[in-house]
Amino acid sequence: MVLFREQIRYKSRKEVDKLREAGRLAANALRLAAKAAKPGVTLLELDRLAENYIRKQGAVPGFKGYHGFPGTLCTSVNDKVVHGIPSDYALRDGDVLSIDCGAKLDGFNGDTCLTVGVGHISEKSENLIRTAQLAMFRGIEFSKVGNRLGDMSTAVQSFAEGAGYSIVREYIGHGIGRDLHEDPQVVYADQPSGTGFRFEPGMTITIEPILVDGNHACQVESDGWTVRTKDGSWSAQFEHMIAITNEGPRILSLPDPDFELASGL
Ligand code: MG
Ligand code: MG
Repeated sequence: MVLFREQIRYKSRKEVDKLREAGRLAANALRLAAKAAKPGVTLLELDRLAENYIRKQGAVPGFKGYHGFPGTLCTSVNDKVVHGIPSDYALRDGDVLSIDCGAKLDGFNGDTCLTVGVGHISEKSENLIRTAQLAMFRGIEFSKVGNRLGDMSTAVQSFAEGAGYSIVREYIGHGIGRDLHEDPQVVYADQPSGTGFRFEPGMTITIEPILVDGNHACQVESDGWTVRTKDGSWSAQFEHMIAITNEGPRILSLPDPDFELASGL
């Protein structure tokens, strides 16, 4: 592992494979929780499902205790944007739930999130969720050797804004490795094409733009964690960890086939 530039920790192939294993566990746990997210189920029940799965695999929850965060999952409903603490809130038909999951295995972090509709959701919500997922994949597609951060971020921002959504500015992607949050900072807005870091082999980062169906301004609630939109608009987010390789981006947080959701998320 070599440290240089803005303290980016470039990973060996072996380290990338370790991250893949952590990412796989986080992705599987995330889908267990997503499949269980039905009307009447509480956020704490989802959290326990994910935690039990992660511990049974010999890993530990990656977020629990991180700066004091109490959950295995971040569970953010409707106008909550990120870092929602799992509570006894019982999900309702029509809710839009973003779930973020971290798992640490052999000292390496997995970090991945997705958004699901609870029960029957509106067409507006479906569009928001689908566009957030496509925005993430657009970010992954542009995270390749030869591009700079601004090329990827402009692709994501123009796609999201072209579809009528805005991108949250304060909560961004990051390098990932032995630490959950490493350099570089990975933004998805306001970074001109041709500027910012160059994507280089050995970098491991997260692609996790947050889309909002209104204004992107956010505020933190009194619990010190939960972030919500100021104007009450709803949000959706998808996150994959990727490794930059000469052959293109390698997604490190795909689930095992048994855990995939019917919709293919
Ligand atoms: Mg995450
Ligand atoms: Mg992340």
